[in-house]
Amino acid sequence: MKFITREEARELGLKEYFIGESCKCGHILPRRVDNNGCKECQSKARKKYWGKNKIAFKKRNREWIDNNRERFNTLQRDYARKNPEKYRERSLEYRRNNLEKVKISKRKAYFKYKNTPKYKLKSICYVTSRKLSIGKLSESKLSLLEYTPEEFIDYILQGYEFNSVQDAYDVGYHIDHIVPLSYISKNIQELELQFCVAMDLYNLRLIKGEENLFKGNKIDFPEVQEAKRFLWNKYNIL
Ligand SMILES: [Zn+2]
Repeated sequence: MKFITREEARELGLKEYFIGESCKCGHILPRRVDNNGCKECQSKARKKYWGKNKIAFKKRNREWIDNNRERFNTLQRDYARKNPEKYRERSLEYRRNNLEKVKISKRKAYFKYKNTPKYKLKSICYVTSRKLSIGKLSESKLSLLEYTPEEFIDYILQGYEFNSVQDAYDVGYHIDHIVPLSYISKNIQELELQFCVAMDLYNLRLIKGEENLFKGNKIDFPEVQEAKRFLWNKYNIL
């Protein structure tokens, strides 16, 4: 490691300096320019302090989150976007470790949202995609779509090596609606028209699971805007 004095480091705007000297606990490590602390000692002190005040800290965190919902959600979304892998790992781990909690919150969400336009559209589209994927669909639904189940499968799988849509699902892919269902249900009145727009082939694509975590403000993406323009035009939506 290169030696650099505290003054030199300060002049260069660095946060740490190192002159090869040990701290009072014997760590030969860089020290902070601002408070002269040894990294290892400080991290130990932080952990000790955290351990002692864990409950109070957690409570304070909770309170902050409750009072700053919007801000918290934005921060989380930003984090997820910057660290997709980590985010995915963490949320998978959380879900694995909190099976019961997840089940309860899913059930709560179901009863809270089941009668909302977004949920209705979502469940219809989900079932439709699944049935199309195995080459089946009721006549009444088929008559609303411009394509056959076979055409759906061909379109969805183009550019991929999968033999069936199920094979793609099995390795974490799913059907994504380019213009999100939440946006469609919010901006189009009639459920039948919502369904036609949502399930238009132009609005469908196969993507790998994690990309879909960012649905939040997806509507701002250029490709989503383009799809929206095309579909709104095609279906004469004002
Ligand atoms: Zn130390």
